[in-house]
Amino acid sequence: MSITTFHPPSRTLMGPGPSDVSPRVLEALARPTIGHLDPRFIDLMDELKHLIQYAFKTGNALTMPVSAPGSAGMECCFVNLVEPGDKVIVCQNGVFGGRMKENVVRAGGTVIAVDDEWGTAVDANKLEAALKANPDAGIVAFVQAETSTGVLSDARALTALARQFGCLTIVDTVTALGGVPVRVDEWGIDAVYSGSQKCLSCVPGLSPVSFSAAAQEKITSRKQPVQSWFLDLNLVMGYWGQGVKRAYHHTAPVNALYSLHEALLILREEGIENAWQRHQYHHQALRVGFAAMGLDFLVSENEQLPQLNAVVIPAGADDAAVRSRLLQEYQLEIGAGLGVLAGKVWRIGLMGHGCNQKNVLYCLGAMDAVLG
Ligand code: PLP
Repeated sequence: MSITTFHPPSRTLMGPGPSDVSPRVLEALARPTIGHLDPRFIDLMDELKHLIQYAFKTGNALTMPVSAPGSAGMECCFVNLVEPGDKVIVCQNGVFGGRMKENVVRAGGTVIAVDDEWGTAVDANKLEAALKANPDAGIVAFVQAETSTGVLSDARALTALARQFGCLTIVDTVTALGGVPVRVDEWGIDAVYSGSQKCLSCVPGLSPVSFSAAAQEKITSRKQPVQSWFLDLNLVMGYWGQGVKRAYHHTAPVNALYSLHEALLILREEGIENAWQRHQYHHQALRVGFAAMGLDFLVSENEQLPQLNAVVIPAGADDAAVRSRLLQEYQLEIGAGLGVLAGKVWRIGLMGHGCNQKNVLYCLGAMDAVLG
């Protein structure tokens, strides 16, 4: 086998993530590597924490990027907050709520399931009934932006309910952050995680997380140690914590963190509220275009995420063949359906740097040509 330098093709990424990464972010990634305890790198870490706080709209001291993808951010929240025997209410309306359940079980907790149909938002009334029926539940977990369906759930209302019943909340904002409002402090979210590769348009492999004072209190007063050494926040705090002399925990992905810093800086320069509006604006254009082509959305407009658009595959169209032609002939990546929606929908992402007029027009033109 002859192996030479890898040169990836130049694609337009309009699937469920990763999204297109801006040249500014790629350039940041290529800067010289320095030590992960270098004083200049510590300065960058402080700035990064500040920028993540900006994106999450929080003042939480325990805010940092986990050195691994969104799944590790999810696991970080569950392994730290769930102790064996804890009852956790998990709302599921797609693939990723299912993973939350897995996490609870693996952490020794008991799942109270609140299930909603895929393609609809989490039903606050069902959550309220579960909270009433389980007064000993201590945590409520849900996905704000379900990437498998393109549904936005009302994180503000669900968090308010959980708080009313004295529960902490764990909220998945992997696809939400940067594309729709996420207001951690105003809504009172206790543990939140995201991913670098969606609306932040950074390289994949990092997961910003943030924890409220109440969550931090639960973590520091655990009866049993966290079963994951790498994700144990009691240890990670020695590296990322406030007011500590930073000590070695693991070797941070130095260059990837340069790129996250740049991606978040771009978000702050635009203004996060402007980014939310931009996602809405281009989603509307895509929606009108698909409607003109006779394509239906899976989700009703009042629950639709602007950054993830699931369209129903029209009768007679060959799912895999269409996606393959888009990739081969147009260098355009769109997403397949996941789980029960496999073969039923295509998922078109309008995320971060890739959420622009050029991509909307390109995607509509390419799909129109391929669908004939
Ligand atoms: N949660 C949601 C809602 C996601 O969309 C994803 C990834 O698509 C994840 C969690 C897992 O993130 P990652 O693939 O970065 O591990």
